[in-house]
Amino acid sequence: MEKEQKPCHLVLVMAPFQGHITPALQLATALHSKGFSITIVHPELNSPDPSNHPEFAFESIPDKFTPPRHLDRDVVGLALSLNKNCAAPLRQCIEQMVRSGDRITAVLYDSFMFCAQTVVDELRLTGISIRTSSATTLLLLPLFPQLEEKDFISQIDAPELQALQLPRLRALLSQYPTSAMTEMRVAFTNAVRSSSAIIANSMAFLEQAALSNVKQHFPVPIFAIGPLHKLAPTIGSSILTEDDECIAWLNKQAPKSVIYVSFGSIASIGEHELIEMARGLVDCEQPFLWAVRPGMVRGSEWIEPLSDGLKECVGEKGHIVKWTPQKEVLAHGAVGGFWSHCGWNSTVESICEGVPMLCKPFFGDQLLNSSYICNVWKTGMELQELERGNIERTIKKLMVDIEGTEIKNRAMDLKEKAADCLMEYGSSSCSLNELTKQISSFS
Ligand code: UDP
Repeated sequence: MEKEQKPCHLVLVMAPFQGHITPALQLATALHSKGFSITIVHPELNSPDPSNHPEFAFESIPDKFTPPRHLDRDVVGLALSLNKNCAAPLRQCIEQMVRSGDRITAVLYDSFMFCAQTVVDELRLTGISIRTSSATTLLLLPLFPQLEEKDFISQIDAPELQALQLPRLRALLSQYPTSAMTEMRVAFTNAVRSSSAIIANSMAFLEQAALSNVKQHFPVPIFAIGPLHKLAPTIGSSILTEDDECIAWLNKQAPKSVIYVSFGSIASIGEHELIEMARGLVDCEQPFLWAVRPGMVRGSEWIEPLSDGLKECVGEKGHIVKWTPQKEVLAHGAVGGFWSHCGWNSTVESICEGVPMLCKPFFGDQLLNSSYICNVWKTGMELQELERGNIERTIKKLMVDIEGTEIKNRAMDLKEKAADCLMEYGSSSCSLNELTKQISSFS
């Protein structure tokens, strides 16, 4: 009788933030469907609920990490301390698996958890880097701060990337303290360079130039297998409770009339900005659905800075909730625009539903994503200042004026291209099959 073959075992090291947890679980789901068995190793912070994912094994590692109230104040410092704190427990955890006879085919790690590659090298295992942001960030992090602008731009020889207005991004990225940024850049780049492959939640058509540039700068294959949320929808990855009633509210609105507003899980705003946003939204005369995360407004628990009068006006025109089922919201026929901080997941989710975007990036890769949306794909407009008149005008331009029509058409065009990627012979389906073969070859 033929001996039954044990499935190849993958360890997936997750980073403990919403924009990382969701794509990691989606990737795990996709690989599980290809026959791999999966153990998810995660820091204690924002632990996923194993009962939502009985198909995976879970291992928690101590992170000795108390997150600051506003994570966006120092993202680089956050990455460095998390990696320092997690390196030893992660090593112990994986070593324990190896000692107990577990044959690990590969360790896939979120590239935010770059300490994992060192652990993998020490234990002579195979490491695969997961990029939950755009593939283009793989070019910026290693090269940007160390090269003069002209040298950098000459290395990135593609019109789409020139259109990103890299000098502006360079100025914005240099807002981080140099030594910490350099430490992170070096650790990150070394990890990705030493890995055996890179997995990106992207699509070939979306970042074509960047994907081929990445191949020149990193000597490892890169697999763009997105959009992960369409490839492997997964439940229960939300840290906050989703308010499902907002769907009932959307059901009552006219097609494509609603502007949906969300700044993701990390960005924060001041009290004055909250008031300006509320005023601008009320004045633009479009219905709006607004996700205001508890703690998103600095100095407040929720929306206390809005006066009772303003809350009343908001209640007539719009609907404020703490957290939405965002993918469902974006897919809803009533939603005609998305005012976003341009996190990568939100960007990809919006592309997949053909929703044009109003871009208000805050930090890090959000600036790059916004530049892609407004200058390269041209499926959105940038909102410069959080001032009521400016907000009102820009929302009208996107949602009502003739100017928005071409943007809407291009957004629908990207939606179709994104769907094609996951067809049988689409670029992401082919890439996932190649990735599966590559991982299996490590066993
Ligand atoms: N999200 C959600 N409900 C909300 C706001 C955000 O489900 O009210 C989800 C969104 O769908 C996305 C993630 O949170 O998958 C945010 O990730 P992103 O990369 O856009 O931004 P980050 O939170 O990392 O800044």
